[in-house]
Amino acid sequence: MLLVQLNDPFEITHPETAFASEDLSIFLNVRENKEYVKVSYPVKYGIFSRLETREMILEFNLNHEIRHARSKTRQWLHPSEWLKRTAGNDWIYYSSGGYAGVVEAIGEYYLPNFTYPTNSLLGGRPFAEPEVAKIHQGWHELLAAVPDNRPDMPARIAEWLGQVKQITKADLENKAQTLFEICGARTTVLPPDARHSDYNVIPLTIADGCLYKCRFCKVKNKKPFTLRTPGDIRRQIQDLAGLFSSDLVNYNALFLGEHDALNAPADLIACSAATW
Ligand code: SF4
Repeated sequence: MLLVQLNDPFEITHPETAFASEDLSIFLNVRENKEYVKVSYPVKYGIFSRLETREMILEFNLNHEIRHARSKTRQWLHPSEWLKRTAGNDWIYYSSGGYAGVVEAIGEYYLPNFTYPTNSLLGGRPFAEPEVAKIHQGWHELLAAVPDNRPDMPARIAEWLGQVKQITKADLENKAQTLFEICGARTTVLPPDARHSDYNVIPLTIADGCLYKCRFCKVKNKKPFTLRTPGDIRRQIQDLAGLFSSDLVNYNALFLGEHDALNAPADLIACSAATW
């Protein structure tokens, strides 16, 4: 019997490339965890690229868009804490609370802190911290100051650096708006599991509105519960695949929305998942 070892197609399309000097390192197409887990230390998932200077670490997805950031200075609140940017262009600060505090209070290892008000009873105001604000507000300026014409830098690395610098904050905001337009609205609720192990989802709207319009609920909208047509769902899937583009390989979960999607007929739910 002849065994043929096939190359991983992702290794061909995303070969690892590295550059390291005293004050700057760049690793392209780093491969981290494939499986999502709930653990008490920072874990990164999927394939992404990492830029590290003496002061900061920035990480980018396969579309050259920033996805994680943190400062390395003493002023940063805790070395295990970091900033994450979502596909909706929201920034989240993951606070460990010294681990013991958060896990004892809520059973999670990290507490996500947002830039907008939420119904969370816990959490400080990390975005008001100067070092967090510096990275959150100023990552693009800090990135722009990283030289990309060094003679010791491989051409592939210099090209990548030029590509990540070209994507502006306005580009990221516009892309998030396109995401909301494809689905019909910003996703306001995620499955609790996405919090436990911090996995990312692609939102697909198969029905608008919700059933009960409960008085206490802050995420409801005024839309009556209405099913989307199979044609509209196919259109969304096509547009979402184009939007997530090269970074699609980093997603393994589809979130069927909006709020009461599971009230849709079983064949529409099954057909939506199968079409994706
Ligand atoms: S989203 Fe759920 S909890 Fe909120 S009003 Fe609708 S049915 Fe009630």
